[in-house]
Amino acid sequence: MTTQRTVLITGGNRGIGRAIAEEFLAAGHRVAVTSRSGEGGPEGALTVAADVGNAASIDEAFKAVEAEYGPIEVVVANAGITKDGLLLRMTEDDFTSVVDTNLTGAFRIIKRASKGMLRAKFGRVVLISSVVGLYGSPGQINYAASKAGLVGIVRSLTRELGGRGITANVVSPGFIETEMTAVLPEETQKEYLSAIPAGRFGKVDEIAKTVRWLASDDAGYISGAVIPVDGGLGMGH
Ligand code: NDP
Repeated sequence: MTTQRTVLITGGNRGIGRAIAEEFLAAGHRVAVTSRSGEGGPEGALTVAADVGNAASIDEAFKAVEAEYGPIEVVVANAGITKDGLLLRMTEDDFTSVVDTNLTGAFRIIKRASKGMLRAKFGRVVLISSVVGLYGSPGQINYAASKAGLVGIVRSLTRELGGRGITANVVSPGFIETEMTAVLPEETQKEYLSAIPAGRFGKVDEIAKTVRWLASDDAGYISGAVIPVDGGLGMGH
C-alpha cells in the first residue's frame, strides 16, 4: 500500500491528463486537476482554472488546491499543444507559443510546486514529454524542441533537488489514441503504425499507470529518467 498523496495534474480535463487523474483517484489519492475553463475534471477531483502560460494563474490554482488538500506532493505537468508545420512555413509565433506552453509552462509549474516540496522534503515531479522529443518528426520542430527540453529540466532538477527527497522524471508517450492524435492525417497515422513494434497505438491508461507508479513509494530511487511508453517506437532514442 503506497502512501496517499496530494496530486496536481495540469490539463486533467481530457485526454492523457484526465486518465492520469482517474488513475490516481482510483488508487485513493487526493487529486486536483487544472483546465483552462476551471471545469471538466473527472468526478472526485478538484478542478481549478489555470493557464500554464501565466505564472499568476498557476499560483492562484496552487493556492486553491493547497487550501482544500494541503501542500502538493505530486505534480504532473501534462498540458501541451501542437502547432505543426514544415520549417519553411512555421512562423516564429508557431514556435514560441508551443515552447511557451509545453516547456516554459512546465518550468512555471515546477517552480511553484518546488516551494511546498522543499518544505516537506518530499516531492514527485513527472513531466509528460513525447517520443517525438528525442526521435524527431518532420513538421514538429517546435513541438520536438519543447519536449526534448523537458529532459534537460528533469535531469537538472534531479541534480539540484535530488538530495531533498524530490524525484523528477519524464514519461515519454508514443502514439496514444486521444483528440490530439485523432486530427493527424490518415497517411501519417498509417506511417506511425508501421513503425511501432507493438503493432498498435497506445491507450491513455497505459500512460496513466506509469505516471502513478513513478509517484509511488516503490519508485523513490528513480530520478532523471526518461520512461518511454511507446510500444517500442522510439527504441534507442
Ligand atoms: P489533448 O489535446 O487531449 O489535451 C491537452 C490538454 O492540455 C488539455 O487539458 C488542455 O486544456 C491542456 N492545455 C493546453 N494548453 C494549455 C494551457 N496554455 N494552459 C493550461 N492547459 C492547457 O492532449 P493529449 O491528452 O493527447 O496530450 C497530453 C500531453 O501528452 C501533452 O503534453 C502531449 O504533448 C503529450 N503527448 C501526447 C501524445 C498523444 O499521442 N496523444 C503523444 C505524446 C505526448 P484545455 O481543455 O483547457 O484546452
